[in-house]
Amino acid sequence: MPIATVNPATGETLKTFDAFTAEEVEQRLARAEAAFREYRTTGFDTRADLMRAAAALLEKEQDEIARTMTTEMGKTLAAARAEAVKCAKAMRWYAERAEGLLADEYPSPHDVEDSGGIAAHVRYRPLGVVLAVMPWNFPLWQVVRFAAPALMAGNVGLLKHASNVPQTALYLGDLFRRAGFPDGCFQTLLIGSAEVEKVLRDPRVAAATLTGSEPAGRAVARVAGDEVKKTVLELGGSDPYIVMPSADLARAAQTAVTARTQNNGQSCIAAKRFLAHDAVHDDFARRFTDAMAALTVGDPMRDGTDVGPLSSEQGRADLEELVDDATAKGATVLCGGRRPQKATRGWYYEPTVLAGVTPAMRIHHEEAFGPVATLYRVADLDAAVALANDTPFGLSSNVWTNDPEEQRRFAADLEAGGVFFNGMTASHPAMPFGGVKRSGYGRELAGHGIHEFCNATTVWYG
Ligand code: NAP
Repeated sequence: MPIATVNPATGETLKTFDAFTAEEVEQRLARAEAAFREYRTTGFDTRADLMRAAAALLEKEQDEIARTMTTEMGKTLAAARAEAVKCAKAMRWYAERAEGLLADEYPSPHDVEDSGGIAAHVRYRPLGVVLAVMPWNFPLWQVVRFAAPALMAGNVGLLKHASNVPQTALYLGDLFRRAGFPDGCFQTLLIGSAEVEKVLRDPRVAAATLTGSEPAGRAVARVAGDEVKKTVLELGGSDPYIVMPSADLARAAQTAVTARTQNNGQSCIAAKRFLAHDAVHDDFARRFTDAMAALTVGDPMRDGTDVGPLSSEQGRADLEELVDDATAKGATVLCGGRRPQKATRGWYYEPTVLAGVTPAMRIHHEEAFGPVATLYRVADLDAAVALANDTPFGLSSNVWTNDPEEQRRFAADLEAGGVFFNGMTASHPAMPFGGVKRSGYGRELAGHGIHEFCNATTVWYG
């Protein structure tokens, strides 16, 4: 893939970039290693001041960076601004809390006594240079939710961002440098995915995190496994959105639309499969379909646009293939199912609801990365759980029910990294984020996220 800014709203190539030469990559690796030696010794107060400075810069520059994101990957300008603000909040969250989250841990008085009076504690030390391979869909947030805890823990970062968001990638490296982080603490590598293996195998790189598709995750995990290096993988999802009879149907249907079409439908935690209980299915289906059909598809820079273009021509072609496969095998299109007739350029696709989906159809098992929902009818709670779990993915899940016993069952039985009741999945710095099954492993955010790239060291005094 060329490293370039191509506006998805027009298809126009605005700027191309040369990939770094081997020598340029080497310089950055050397700089990262040198930076880690010093930076690991800085105190939490220093790191927190730097992180707050980065947050303040980002807040100040939110309009400018939002326009860059919208231009590079097509999310609406309002969503891009909200993403920048969310990143600044997460930076401040870790600036405030990192010291507490990484404080030394002591054994309980009971364990001290039980072991004959040991004097020991756990100390969290940084791992070193961490390579972050990141996707374009939340081009700031995916990076910041790694970088904020990693830098606060004393690690340094190398960012290999998606090839279609080079200007956002360069902005991020620049942001941390301008905030005052020492040279080499956080650097952007403009390289293609074929160069990732070489960087990951470099002995100066201690670990890697990847957010992206399953094939990319598998490729990075394979190399990291071979090198015995720690990885965190945040991969795809096909989250269920279950509506039970006790739900507030109006809210459930309205939230369903946002849950499916946020970020033009290209979110790992977007609800993608909608499972409505038989008693409310028809009512929910009508409300949901009407609201999906009423969305405004168009220029993501314009106020009032709900859904912008998909990020690439290939992304739209992949989505069309999934829909065509389903309809060829008997699925019914309740709305959408095609490109908007008025759009003469740009990679737009109409918000779509498909009914009558069966396991024979690819979309039943694969992730639809665009504004396409599949709608299923379920007879009862057991059927909802079975169908919800009938997927290779396990990122998050959404359930609309006001019945406490049903809530207990869903929270116990859904195979996912999150269960959100009467709302849609969202990430928050205070709560861990990540998946099970083919959605990956490890966690980001909260205390879990900051511990991923730490060496939990037992310090023992004899
Ligand atoms: P992608 O193709 O996997 O790209 C993600 C990153 O991996 C890019 O930087 C890409 O570089 C790189 N990459 C691709 N193939 C690679 C390989 N073989 N070896 C090393 N690096 C490789 O993902 P995408 O299609 O852009 O993003 C969408 C996917 O990300 C969806 O499946 C979505 O659900 C998932 N996602 C997951 C989360 C989560 O938190 N779980 C969040 C957001 C997105 P190039 O751009 O140069 O190819």
